[in-house]
Amino acid sequence: MVKAISSNLGYPRLGEKREWKRALEKFWNGLITEQELLAETKTLRLHALKKQQEKGIDLIPVGDFSFYDQVLDTSVTFGIIPKRFQHDGGKVSLNTYFDIARGKSEAVASEMTKWFNTNYHYIVPELVDATPKVLHNRSLYYYEEAKKELGIDGKPVLIGPITYLKLGKGSNAESFEALVDKFIPAYIEILTELESAGVEWVQIDEPYLATSFAKEELQLFEKVYKEFQKATPNLKIELQTYFESLDYYEEVVNLPVAAVGIDFVHDHGESLKALETYGFPADKFLAAGVVDGRNVWRSNLDEKLELLSTISNYVTDGKLIVQPSNSLLHVPVTKWSEPELDEIILGGLSFADQKLDEVVVLTKALTLGKEHVATELKEARLAVLALNESSHRNNLEVQAAIANLENIRVERDLPFAERIKLQHAWLQLPLFPTTTIGSFPQSPEVRSTRAEWLKGNITDAEYNTFIEKETARWIQIQEDLDLDVLVHGEFERTDMVEYFGQKLAGFQATKFGWVQSYGSRAVRPPLIYGDVAFTEEITVKESVYAQSLTKRPVKGMLTAPVTIINWSFVRDDIPESTVANQVGLALRKEVEALERNGIKVIQVDEPALREGLPLKRARWEKYLNDAVYSFKLTTTSVQNDTQIHTHMCYSDFDDIIETISALDADVISIETSRSHGEIISTFEEVTYDKEIGLGVYDIHSPRVPTVAEIQSNIHRALRAIDAKQFWINPDCGLKTRKEPETIAALQDMIKATKEVRAEYQVLEK
Ligand code: GLN
Ligand code: ZN
Repeated sequence: MVKAISSNLGYPRLGEKREWKRALEKFWNGLITEQELLAETKTLRLHALKKQQEKGIDLIPVGDFSFYDQVLDTSVTFGIIPKRFQHDGGKVSLNTYFDIARGKSEAVASEMTKWFNTNYHYIVPELVDATPKVLHNRSLYYYEEAKKELGIDGKPVLIGPITYLKLGKGSNAESFEALVDKFIPAYIEILTELESAGVEWVQIDEPYLATSFAKEELQLFEKVYKEFQKATPNLKIELQTYFESLDYYEEVVNLPVAAVGIDFVHDHGESLKALETYGFPADKFLAAGVVDGRNVWRSNLDEKLELLSTISNYVTDGKLIVQPSNSLLHVPVTKWSEPELDEIILGGLSFADQKLDEVVVLTKALTLGKEHVATELKEARLAVLALNESSHRNNLEVQAAIANLENIRVERDLPFAERIKLQHAWLQLPLFPTTTIGSFPQSPEVRSTRAEWLKGNITDAEYNTFIEKETARWIQIQEDLDLDVLVHGEFERTDMVEYFGQKLAGFQATKFGWVQSYGSRAVRPPLIYGDVAFTEEITVKESVYAQSLTKRPVKGMLTAPVTIINWSFVRDDIPESTVANQVGLALRKEVEALERNGIKVIQVDEPALREGLPLKRARWEKYLNDAVYSFKLTTTSVQNDTQIHTHMCYSDFDDIIETISALDADVISIETSRSHGEIISTFEEVTYDKEIGLGVYDIHSPRVPTVAEIQSNIHRALRAIDAKQFWINPDCGLKTRKEPETIAALQDMIKATKEVRAEYQVLEK
């Protein structure tokens, strides 16, 4: 038997029914006062703490609560507030806090970006001239609240200084250490107050340690944590890492802290190997993240116990902590909000609350012996087995197709240079063909009609007529604008992944499976619980209808496998690449159906390809090769004269240009207008032979670009890209824009295009 302690790293903020989101939005809309917001959120916070207490979690995190984002919380703690918000010192008001996150008329919001490789977005600290000064010790506040209200001796959670500063912008490599030095005393001020208040454990998150970085940077960690230890010798610091293994395991576990938290789920088996190779310091606690904090499937507790008992061989008795791999912020609150789900799927799920139950069962099994939790272990074993063996999960036809993959040709018949001629021959497009990325504004009317249909207040036929009417209206608008390749507008879709999830087998939507994406915004990723299969045509009806209204080519519109995977909760019993290939095989049928029905320009969107890149570079190659393979599985069975497009949104493009070329799409459109210069310099260095549309204006802002601006973007691009390869389009889908600004911007785009065409025709004569 081993004495173990249970712990949690962070709890979802949203509330079981997104009460947190509603409270924030009511406040922003002036429907409740600040006092009411504070009261409502306090109730939610205490409810979440109480649940953890009742479950028997030993180390309960406090201060993981936020009104928006934990990185922004760190910024306002230390007074890192952009000048444009004119903060006058002192504790930051809630209004200023929200202004930084959301902007106000006199000052634009701070940027936001993805938290490591998750879909959670944090507010980027602006570190130019950063001089930290503790304005408010929020950790202490939340610690005292939990103690007073519930008698919980909580574990305050902080983002560590190095990770925090690495996530910020405006610092540079040379001055980085000086910046860290400035933050050490500020952190110590917080920690000292916690120590005096009687805090035993503090969790300091340094996920930066789980990325690949230069070894010299380790000395920053040594310095910081030595200072912390010196200043607060009675505080137990849990240095928490997650999302990957540690490149410098040996050095990290020897940092002067009481406990090191290590991810044993997203580490590709490397954490255990390191532990077995280098051992673990006898005087330290090892916090073992064994329950997956980023996915929603029930743990195989027998396997987890075995893992924990191996780990315990290397840890001094009494110093093993059992916990989720990372904060539960990344999973929905409780599966019991989904009573309508199929029993077998429900049995195989585990959301935040259930994950904490798993942690407690594992801790008891270690400490008291398996027989004390025999019922729980058995129930989990049976539930996992039931799902794994169920017909839900296993489609023999799909499994046979996957086993036969090597016999499927994933190349187009002709190379690009040959097939593009055949495409040009029938498409007859002008120089600089114009198109859009797929979606047109989802007006309030589109959204309310869909809502009425979902509630059953209007019939399928009525809804369909409405979608057709909207499609027809926009085909007319596109013809009037004189666009060359048209789209149907995606009015039938709320979300580009959800829509495919609804039509493919193996997916399940949830009702309350929300996770925070940014601020009050939450997403509800579909569950991919079983083998994915094509069951019915997905997009053919809409595309064919649109094509029937015009002589110009209408572009079909699909979402590619990796994006579907990255924005879903994917089953964890088979490799993710296998699931991507299943999606690829299913979509291949959809591509063929479109082609059969006369849609011969087909766009397959892969916007999330870049963001899903593994944290460690060493894993990029496999990820990118797998992505290329599933994309080609989707797209290569078409005729040579069918034109395959793809679209990606990101700016950091240098890294993966070879992958983009390897996709072998005939035309790619890329979101670039906010970083035009960099992308173009990429093209000055590599030769890209296929056709390409660099977004010529930014759709993320309601501002209508001028003709001159668009022209200058086109001219800049044409310095690096041959005119014959170049397409003209906005930089992303238009569904979040309003109709008047969309039409005005497209008018300017077409005008700019026509002028540039005229210049080139003169040149060619
Ligand atoms: N076709 C999609 C649209 O236009 C692409 C969205 C995206 O790039 N994220 O909305
Ligand atoms: Zn896009």
